[in-house]
Amino acid sequence: MYDRTWDLVVVGAGPGGSSAARRTPFVRLVADAMDWTAPGVGRQVLLVALRDRVSAVVRAPDGQTASTDLRVGRPGNEDGPQAALLGRWNLHFLRLEPGGPVALGVDEDTARDIAHDQVVASNEIYAPCNITFGDPADTLFEIADPPGPTMLAVADIDGLTSAGGDVRFTVNGTTIGPLRIRPNWPPYQTAAFIGAAVEAAGFVVEVSENAPVDYGAGGSADVLILDAEGRPVRIGHAGDAPLTTDARQSLSIGELDLTDRLTEFNNATSSAGTLEERTMYKVLADHDPATIDMFVINRFAGGGRQGEAFIEHDHGTVINALVLDRTGIRQTRQAWTQSHEAGHVLLDDPYHPDNFGSDRPWLLMDADASLGDVTGPKRLSEEECARVRRESGVDASPPMLERWDAIPPDALTEPYDTPFDPGYPRG
Ligand SMILES: [Zn+2]
Repeated sequence: MYDRTWDLVVVGAGPGGSSAARRTPFVRLVADAMDWTAPGVGRQVLLVALRDRVSAVVRAPDGQTASTDLRVGRPGNEDGPQAALLGRWNLHFLRLEPGGPVALGVDEDTARDIAHDQVVASNEIYAPCNITFGDPADTLFEIADPPGPTMLAVADIDGLTSAGGDVRFTVNGTTIGPLRIRPNWPPYQTAAFIGAAVEAAGFVVEVSENAPVDYGAGGSADVLILDAEGRPVRIGHAGDAPLTTDARQSLSIGELDLTDRLTEFNNATSSAGTLEERTMYKVLADHDPATIDMFVINRFAGGGRQGEAFIEHDHGTVINALVLDRTGIRQTRQAWTQSHEAGHVLLDDPYHPDNFGSDRPWLLMDADASLGDVTGPKRLSEEECARVRRESGVDASPPMLERWDAIPPDALTEPYDTPFDPGYPRG
């Protein structure tokens, strides 16, 4: 938080020429440089961040001065719509391959700068909702290897039950199986059975069921395998044996290979995410409902996409996460891609206002706007701010945002949130 001083100059007298209350020119508080440098409002906009202290000094024509302190937004221990809330990012920048360069094509210091800027950009956009993502230097950030073949997916996409067959594979060179899968097992049952065998061989296993995709028979299931130290393993074929001899229920190895770009979800698979996306998420995300995991990759395979969000609404195992590629990062302050995808997470809403009503390209959640100026897609409506508080605020279950910058009890005597009072005679 900063202490910024704004000199307000009172010009002329009050109504009717009296020396009664006078009105200064308006001052608009803005949160990003684009609004700050907008044409036509020079010297009437002040660039602030949430909970900044703004000192206003008023100089009247007769030489009297008065000053007052105001904070941007209200203290976080209040409950109203102005109370400051804190969201937290967990930023994962992927390497192109293990030990390789950062997938963005920049060095690690530059990646760190870009990560910091992502936090700053979200602070700018969400300040009007009285939400901050805090100090970039305090934000969780890692440059991560893409997870190798460390997950098994049972009946990926189709969610079919088993016809019966034998499963055999290796984990870090140890052969597991053959495991006899009986007929008519749903994916989760097969996954749990495989998981128990892998656990008995000394590995750490997490079995999870995915949301059914459109037209799928049911939810597929994943077996995430880690070694005793919690590190990813290498799953492989046992000699020439197929992973499974089951003719109906597939078994696939999940790994993230960014050298051929990331295979993204489509409308039918958006609830579960693709196997690549799930592997990335299940290995690297913190599974803390109070953070938003952001993954930064090189490119999506399909072209055209630059960001995507995984939200609670879809009832998947991948939630509160978003993925951005190079183009999405480049569009940080044009299409505001990151803040738009974060909007899907915070609003818990996969849709766009222009899916239903008229096109309003200045809204952050508009589907297709990308104009990089003051009329670009960066505004949140009051209704959207209220929805964020309802879906993700301190009373949501689980809450994603926490109270921020509550007034400490010993500060209550300090000039902190003084109601505005011009302080000179009102006549
Ligand atoms: Zn969207």
